[in-house]
Amino acid sequence: MEREFRKRTLRPAKESAQGKIKLGEISLVDFSSNDYLGLKNHPALLKGALEAMNKWGTGSGASRLMSGDFELHHELEDAVSLLVGKEEALLFGSGYLANIGIISALFSRKDAIFFDRFCHASMIDGIRLSGARFFRFRHNDPEHLEHLLKKNRAEFSRALILVESLYSMEGDIAPIQRLSELRNRYKTLLIVDDAHAVGVFGDHGEGLVGRGMTEGIDIIVGTFGKALGSYGAYAAISKKLKDQLINHVRSFIFSTALPPPTLGASLAAIKILEDEPERRKRVRTLSFLLREKIRNELLLETPSESQIIPVILGPDERAVRVSQHLEEKGFYVKPVRPPTVPEGSSRIRISVTSNHSEGDILTLVEAIKDVL
Ligand SMILES: *Cc1c(COP(=O)(O)O)cnc(C)c1O
Repeated sequence: MEREFRKRTLRPAKESAQGKIKLGEISLVDFSSNDYLGLKNHPALLKGALEAMNKWGTGSGASRLMSGDFELHHELEDAVSLLVGKEEALLFGSGYLANIGIISALFSRKDAIFFDRFCHASMIDGIRLSGARFFRFRHNDPEHLEHLLKKNRAEFSRALILVESLYSMEGDIAPIQRLSELRNRYKTLLIVDDAHAVGVFGDHGEGLVGRGMTEGIDIIVGTFGKALGSYGAYAAISKKLKDQLINHVRSFIFSTALPPPTLGASLAAIKILEDEPERRKRVRTLSFLLREKIRNELLLETPSESQIIPVILGPDERAVRVSQHLEEKGFYVKPVRPPTVPEGSSRIRISVTSNHSEGDILTLVEAIKDVL
């Protein structure tokens, strides 16, 4: 029975824009998208993509180290390093490629990697590829991390602390200040994956770790595919580290450079972070409203502190059923099951975006109440 509720299948959308998704003939309110700022159909991104394409073509034609390195790539890297507040930035084909490439290039069998147990699959795969010894600490528990560091750090020449800033299945936020102190005390590197926070958090959309905190963080990874409405990823880093990554990261060296339209869209998105701060505000206001209703009106549990709002339901079957019932009521809310989340904590995962209205939130809450 369990298996039956775990199978994943593809469902092509007929349309997807403005917070709605059309499946077959039915249009649903899309609460499963990471397009948090509603930018993927924004006229400025379309224009940015088109202009870049007209000037540079549809593809980049080669990897960055061959003939695929355009001024446009550097323009986007400069925009990212300004946004995040690090000396330099380096682009990657995707967040997945950034994580597997960076971690496996910088660490090897002689090293140790300490990571949060809820880290994204791309970080886990990077650890595996590196061959480093690894130590898993309890989620958002710096005391447990320190215990592991105290016990094991001295055996290894180099060590890494690896975390996300905003966890993609919990919606909760890492204690970055504490982690950065541990980085200093135990002489490790610290990599923070800001994938779900960039664009949404920070006074300028710089994410949860941009600007103020960058000194104590060696690498900040972020993606263009979520709040920035485009595709690809970046690592915000020092100049010294950039030189090193360009020479050693295999997913950078042996992969075609990001295509011009994608770069044009990403550049336009970064500009919008400054020009339209109301999008960020709206996501945060609506998220606060939904979290409050889930806890105080539905009396359900959510670990969320952000726009990612999982409602923990327990058995796979319950999460799948609730998701199906919500779909009948006009809401697209996907169930999340093991191995993505721990056994017995299957959930529906709600993503709030600036495309939603207060009315969408309130009717969603009513619908969840009805199907429980
Ligand atoms: C989505 C995500 C990634 C992968 O980024 P893509 O650009 O979609 O490949 C990496 N890390 C985290 C934490 C993510 O949430």
